[in-house]
Amino acid sequence: MPQDKQPIVFCDFDGTITLSDNIVAIMKHFDPPGCEQIVNDIVSGAKSIRQGVGEMFALLPSSLKEDITQYVLNTAGIRPGFAELLKLCREKEIPFYVTSGGIDFFLRPLLAPFDIEESHIFCNSADFAGERIEIVWPHPCDEHCKNDCGMCKTRVIRRFPEDRYFRMLIGDSITDFEGAKLADLVFARSHLATRCRELGLPHHEYDTFFDVIRVLETLANPGAPESVTS
Ligand SMILES: [Mg+2]
Ligand SMILES: [Zn+2]
Repeated sequence: MPQDKQPIVFCDFDGTITLSDNIVAIMKHFDPPGCEQIVNDIVSGAKSIRQGVGEMFALLPSSLKEDITQYVLNTAGIRPGFAELLKLCREKEIPFYVTSGGIDFFLRPLLAPFDIEESHIFCNSADFAGERIEIVWPHPCDEHCKNDCGMCKTRVIRRFPEDRYFRMLIGDSITDFEGAKLADLVFARSHLATRCRELGLPHHEYDTFFDVIRVLETLANPGAPESVTS
């Protein structure tokens, strides 16, 4: 890690901080007719993430808000080492940002025990005023991103210029693909690891956050050997 740059971490939520993807789990459990096709369209690229996620939640009645929230709280597990990673980042004064394509109504209750500064959490929101759930997008793509992300991770990352920051992204899947191209170092699992290998992006594969911690400690100690797979 360059000594003259401030390290900074951008961490995905669904399937990264949590063991599995909560949007996928919600759609599998409540299974509104038509959601499977939308999932396929997002994966194939026929629909943007913003369009597809918006359409999937619009299949669910707003009256399910409490049921969905409880379902996620009861079933989502936190990946081991998360609290320890936050502690390490605090000790080493590495800013830690949650950059999530998930939705606040299930994300915030799950993150509540971890005491993460409100301004360091970027995610989407939901409006339950109408008959069906409407996803709200407070952080859409700007003129630099044509991906129609919904919550645009590249826009958040670009706030921290590459000449001053060593930008690390932790993620697992499709919402991380664009941000991973900008990051100086990627921690990847699942689909994101496959994509990093395909694109030759510098990355470390992880299973738990203890794997991430080991690498961060190595990077913070320039005397120690360092290995980056790409
Ligand atoms: Mg994810
Ligand atoms: Zn974008």
